[in-house]
This record gives sequence, structure tokens and C-alpha cells, in this order.
Amino acid sequence: MPFYMTRRLIARRSFLMVKSVAIVGAGVSGLTCAVVFAERGCRTAIFAEATGQHTTSAAAAAVWFPYDAEPVDSVIAWALETYDVLVDLSRDSQTGVSVLELRQFSRTDEIAIPDWSIPLGPQRLFAVATGLRPVSDRPQRDGDNLFQSGFALSVPLMDTMIYLDYLANRFIKTGGEINANVRLEKFEDVDPRFDLVINCAGIGARGLVPDADLEPHRGQVAIVPKIDNLNCAIVCDDEPLMYAVPRANDCVFGGTNEISDDLAVDPAATSTIVAECSRALNIDKPKVRAERVGLRPFRKSGVRLERGKLRDGRTVIHNYGHGGSGFTLSWGCAQKVFDLANR
Ligand SMILES: Cc1cc2nc3c(=O)[nH]c(=O)nc-3n(C[C@H](O)[C@H](O)[C@H](O)COP(=O)(O)OP(=O)(O)OC[C@H]3O[C@@H](n4cnc5c(N)ncnc54)[C@H](O)[C@@H]3O)c2cc1C
Repeated sequence: MPFYMTRRLIARRSFLMVKSVAIVGAGVSGLTCAVVFAERGCRTAIFAEATGQHTTSAAAAAVWFPYDAEPVDSVIAWALETYDVLVDLSRDSQTGVSVLELRQFSRTDEIAIPDWSIPLGPQRLFAVATGLRPVSDRPQRDGDNLFQSGFALSVPLMDTMIYLDYLANRFIKTGGEINANVRLEKFEDVDPRFDLVINCAGIGARGLVPDADLEPHRGQVAIVPKIDNLNCAIVCDDEPLMYAVPRANDCVFGGTNEISDDLAVDPAATSTIVAECSRALNIDKPKVRAERVGLRPFRKSGVRLERGKLRDGRTVIHNYGHGGSGFTLSWGCAQKVFDLANR
């Protein structure tokens, strides 16, 4: 059992009321819940149509930062809880979690440093040129004045190529079971031997619940080779959305955010993303290794984290609608699911 959970979990184990849990979904929400329940002694199984690199979670840049998710108060609380767990995980190099500097910029305004970030020690950035070469070394280029203001914050980054496997392996080592290629039409189809069903279906909850409040916020990224000297993540949420996130073996360039169900790669979007990131970093355009598209499960009325009843009398706990913050909220939400299950 990981050291950061030991004391708290032993204290809670004696209150365990749920014996067997079926989790629908193998993205970051489903895997994190699976780890939490399995490590606390529940028989836990995942049922999911897609797993690993085929989920929306695999398309994410997976930087810790609350973005495109509601309601603000709960989101911040779950995010801060998740932050602590991820910082602990970053001490183990096998997890795929690291802590890096996030530089958040604005093209137009004096950027507001959010109140919730104050305990994390944000630093206002006075030099907003993000080109990787010093400005004095070369003639002024467009990227130098791309941004008007910015701040820096140390945040966890999850390398999805490593982290999703880490979660799955940690779950399996505890005796958990992952049933892939299982498409459910309704929750009542889950094997009746499981007394609790947890819904971590992401955008799939739209049809499964059903829930018309879910909106697909389509995101596309380009994976490029590692960029020399890029040691921090650079993000600008103004239009056009732009981010460059260095990972262990490559770099994620983004991005887009539009309401659309289209999972096909748009080559024009890739060109725009690569051009904008290269301009901001003041580098030549790198070769694109891969392109990925995912549907952020944005829920207009906010993340759904509550108990419900299935037609067969079993309890379902919904945990979906995390929008652009599924990684950022993952451990806080999984803890809340566990508390709801044992209420
Ligand atoms: C381009 C992009 C960049 C992002 N960047 C970040 C970021 O930097 N930080 C961050 O925190 N978040 C980010 N996100 C958001 C994050 O990826 C999502 O919030 C998160 O992946 C949602 O995870 P999930 O487990 O809820 O859903 P998913 O990863 O979509 O997983 C859903 C699971 O449910 C299964 N499922 C669905 N329907 C059914 C069914 N009927 N039967 C069986 N199985 C079913 C699926 O097969 C899958 O296994 C980004 C997203 C995108 C697209």
C-alpha cells in the first residue's frame, strides 16, 4: 500500500460497508476509483468499452490545473485534494507523475492570479517572452511579444503514456480485474453479484444515464519530439488556446476546445497548433509524431458526483462530467465516491 494512504486507509477500513464494486469506465476517473476501492479491501472490477491509450484520458495533456469544469467551489476543493496525492506520487519515478513549472499567460489582459492558487506560491512573470533563446541573442521575432502577462506555479504533470498503465497495474496488483471491450447499454446489465455500480463513463454517460446536460468539448493535440531546453509547461487559455507540455519522451502541443462529437483528426487544426506553439517557443516547427483527439466530458450543471438508484434496487454512484479537469480532480473525486459509498 502506498505510504501516503496508509494511516488514513487503515482508519477507514473498519467502516467499510460495500463488499463488491463494479466500475464502468477505464479512463483516469474509473482507474483512480478502482485503486481507492481495491486498496481498501473491496472486490473491485472495471467494465469498459475502451481502455488505456484508447480512452479520452489518453489524449489529455494531463497537467494539474482546474479548467473547463463546474461548479467552481467543489472543483477547487477536489483539485487541491488531488494536488497533494499527485505530489506524493511524483516522489516515485515509476508513476509517470512529476512536478514542473506551469507558466500561464494571457495575450490580452493583465492576468489574474487565482485566489485558490495563493497557498501554492504563484509567481507573477515579468518577462513574458517565451522564446527559448534569450532575446538579446537574435533579432526580435513575433513570439517575443505574443503574451502580455503571466504567472508561474509548480504543478503535477501526469505523463499519460506512463500514468494510466501505472494506475491499471497498481489496481491489478491489489487483485482488481479489468474487463475490456465491454459496451454496456444500461447499468442494470452489470453482473448482479456486484452490489455497487460506479459510473465513470466520461462522455459515454450521455447515452448510458442518459444525460443531455453533457456536452462534448472536443480537443485535439499534436505529439512532437522532445524540445531542447523546454523544462516548463507553457499555457495560454485566450483564443487560440495554446499549450506546450514537455513529457518524459516527447512534448504535447495543443490545442482546441469546441463543441463537437467529431473524433476524426483535423489536419488544419494540427497545422495551426504547431504554428502557434512554435511561434510562442520561438523554434522551428517540429515534426509531428502523432495527433490525438478526445472529447472532454463537460457538464453544464457541473460535475455529477452523487448516489442514485438503479431499477433493480442497487446503488449507483455517478462520477462524471469533469470537462477539461479529469486528471486534476481524479483523487479528490475518488475519495468523495468512497465516502458516498460508505455513508
Ligand atoms: C486534448 C485534451 C487535453 C486535456 N488536458 C487536460 C489536462 O491538462 N488536465 C486535466 O486534468 N484534464 C485534461 N483533459 C480532460 C481529461 O482528459 C478528461 O476530463 C478525463 O479524461 C475524463 O476522464 P474519465 O475517466 O471521466 O473519462 P474517459 O477517459 O473518457 O473514460 C471513459 C471510460 O468509460 C468507458 N465507457 C463509456 N461509455 C461506456 C459504455 N456505454 N459501456 C462501457 N464503457 C463505457 C470508456 O470506454 C472509457 O473507458 C484534457 C482532455 C483533452 C481531450
